[in-house]
Amino acid sequence: MEKRTLAYWQDKAATLSIEGRAFIDGASRDAYSGRTFDCVSPIDGRVLASVADCGAADVDAAVAAARRSFEQGVWAGRNPRERKAVLLRWAALMREHLDELALLETLDAGKPIGDTTTVDVPGAAYCVEWFAEAIDKVGGEVVPADHHLVGLVTREPIGVVAAVVPWNFPILMASWKFGPALAAGNSVVLKPSEKSPLTAIRVAQLAHEAGIPAGVFNVLPGGGEPGKLLALHRDVDCLAFTGSTNVGKQIMQYAGQSNLKRVWLELGGKSPNIVLPDCPDLDRAAKAAAGAIFYNMGEMCTAGSRLLVHRDIKDVFLAKLLEAAKAYKPGNPLDPDVSMGAIVDKLQLERVLGYIEAGRKDSTLLLGGERVNASSGGFYVEPTVFDTRHDARIAREEIFGPVLSVITFDTIDEAVRVANDSDYGLAAAVWTANLTHAHEISRRLRAGTVWVNCYDEGGDMNFPFGGFKESGNGRDKSLHALEKYTELKSTLVRLR
Ligand code: NAP
Ligand code: MG
Repeated sequence: MEKRTLAYWQDKAATLSIEGRAFIDGASRDAYSGRTFDCVSPIDGRVLASVADCGAADVDAAVAAARRSFEQGVWAGRNPRERKAVLLRWAALMREHLDELALLETLDAGKPIGDTTTVDVPGAAYCVEWFAEAIDKVGGEVVPADHHLVGLVTREPIGVVAAVVPWNFPILMASWKFGPALAAGNSVVLKPSEKSPLTAIRVAQLAHEAGIPAGVFNVLPGGGEPGKLLALHRDVDCLAFTGSTNVGKQIMQYAGQSNLKRVWLELGGKSPNIVLPDCPDLDRAAKAAAGAIFYNMGEMCTAGSRLLVHRDIKDVFLAKLLEAAKAYKPGNPLDPDVSMGAIVDKLQLERVLGYIEAGRKDSTLLLGGERVNASSGGFYVEPTVFDTRHDARIAREEIFGPVLSVITFDTIDEAVRVANDSDYGLAAAVWTANLTHAHEISRRLRAGTVWVNCYDEGGDMNFPFGGFKESGNGRDKSLHALEKYTELKSTLVRLR
């Protein structure tokens, strides 16, 4: 096999043909208005493609196609075994097109090619496979009832599911919605972020090739507008969202203003990573703490953005952390040796730099703090570490960039109180060799995922993923995800 170098991927990028049209009712289409927007690469600020800027007419067409396909039963009405076969073909096509999809993702979102080829695209294919494999095995219940009755409890697909997703893991986050939603028999309208629409557009074409019937899977690129229109649409039964808490709150209101569609939200986080003095391995903990905030340029909903470190080990631990941060040197994400790519766009770059400025005013900068490689035309920020207090703005608000707030504590009670003193509750971690402390602290942490002596572990599908508090409701991944995309039905049959 040809060695994958920067030049290899640059050559591939130079000849890549990029689809920018929406995918509606089984075909690639321009927006009805003819409008497009420029899809920009954060690697160098270059325009990659003109992408359909979908509006009300496109939303109506996609929802109508989804509704029609659902009512006709061309997907929902098939034996789950047949849906499984089609979904497995689709996943296989994603794997066949791994290089192309990974390249699109890297060009569009600035993520390292070493990650998109090993995490994002294979992860999306795996998610589809996992739900495909599950769907012909989960059944309903026959429940105890009066002797003259037969009582059935079944799960039925909910109908038309709209999925509105962010840009940090574009195809992976989308797959966490469309995998279970399609497996359960729904018809889906996917709205990728304007910042990263390309892989969603391409996998829709592959879905068609795999045999997913027209209307069952539609993709509408565009700015916030199609997302809002989907959330307000009276013919959308369920809206599954991953994104910011602010937009999540609006989406709940849109549901209330329209048809009370089911709303499932995976939102932001400000996750605490607590290191106790009896941490079993400070080197591993330091590497994990660096990865927790610098992996994917810190554009992680689960980013360990608050490092809570005990005073007794603070100096030793910070020295190890700053050393570990050296592994994250921003560079061209098309280079397989680069582990930190570009911030997704100029707006997000400015947002991150704004937080760094705020940090300089009330906190002590320990590392980084600068935009780098600006001459490339791209958007790169150094790994940045501040020593701060838990009530500083940078320690409370989600930055969604490579900026770590270090907070010092003296007692376990104080660490737990500070960890939980957040509107968010997505993830948390604790490092300790004491089994009792590990379990007690895990119980006390108000978060959807708790890691003990690790961070960001758990690449398989068996763990439900989602948040407490303002980090959202409902769970992606695992069989529990199917609960979001199905309605429970009780059927009572009187025998005589
Ligand atoms: P965002 O601004 O909330 O956008 C998310 C999606 O919503 C995008 O597709 C966006 O479209 C769309 N949108 C924007 N305004 C809308 C509106 N009024 N109505 C309906 N849809 C609208 O979030 P983001 O900046 O893309 O992503 C970052 C956020 O996502 C962070 O807060 C992060 O924590 C969260 N996140 C959470 C998880 C999780 O699983 N919990 C995972 C990843 C990310 P446009 O981009 O085209 O405007
Ligand atoms: Mg982009």
